[in-house]
Amino acid sequence: MKPISVFDAHCDTISRCWREYEGLGHNSGMISLERTACFARYCQFFALWTADGFTGYPPGKDSVELAYHALLRCFKEQMARNADKIVQCRTAQDVERAHCQGKAAAFLTVEGAELLGCDPARLEEAAENGVVAINLTWNHANALSGSHCDQPHRGLSSVGRRFVEKMEELHILVDVSHLSEAGFWDVIEMARRPIIASHSNAKSVWNHTRNLTDEQITAIIGNQGVIGLNFYRDFVGGSRDLDMLRAHLDHILELGGAACAALGGDWDGCDTIDALPSIDKLSCFYEYLLCHGYDETVVRDLFYNNLMRVVSQR
Ligand SMILES: [Zn+2]
Repeated sequence: MKPISVFDAHCDTISRCWREYEGLGHNSGMISLERTACFARYCQFFALWTADGFTGYPPGKDSVELAYHALLRCFKEQMARNADKIVQCRTAQDVERAHCQGKAAAFLTVEGAELLGCDPARLEEAAENGVVAINLTWNHANALSGSHCDQPHRGLSSVGRRFVEKMEELHILVDVSHLSEAGFWDVIEMARRPIIASHSNAKSVWNHTRNLTDEQITAIIGNQGVIGLNFYRDFVGGSRDLDMLRAHLDHILELGGAACAALGGDWDGCDTIDALPSIDKLSCFYEYLLCHGYDETVVRDLFYNNLMRVVSQR
């Protein structure tokens, strides 16, 4: 089989490297540059994520915020140590350059605005650091909004609205995965640019608060955003094989989302389905879709082009 191109919208690999004292080049996790060497082209959104209790700092108000700098240092250090294989990118042109040099392309993202103190004034610093997308919330409600499971009826606060406005001004993608549904609709109403749901599936295929309703999926399609398929077994649901994952894809496609579906594996942040224990197995998923009669154009768009389009339009 020909090597495939992969652009994945979500992993917690940097947090894992930081916690486990492992490197990006070779490690015991789901993503390493050793594993991704099999791809023709490889781009990845690397999220900075942590939560109170995971940070290594004493629990409390500032611990997550303190961790932002530690995680950022870890990311930069991994880029420097593996500079012959991967490079941090900010634009689609950077990606082209990386691929021409035979390198993978890394984008920096933040999962949970609490890492930035939920402060719109911190967004310029994030943009300077090369952050291209931010999840407004993780699982906990924060000053910006409720989350999918914590105060789920609470939408964007006034500071949440200022945060979204400032993100768009700085061309940072608004990521609605983990957000409350009320917050989601507030974002859609005010968004002037494509948004992303970096790692979320379809609720009508598997009913979980982290998955998106048909109305939400349709709204993201209308907004010309993207939805990254999540491989976490609890969000895929039911049987743990590729058929169930495919049902989520089919549902997004049936709603008209051929230009919207992407990958958002949630690697190194969860228990993925048995068929996708690590990122190199994506080649099997690609092959599986072709064997099930999917047009290769649709599969290529899913695996690479759709997310690249949104990144190019930033
Ligand atoms: Zn997540």
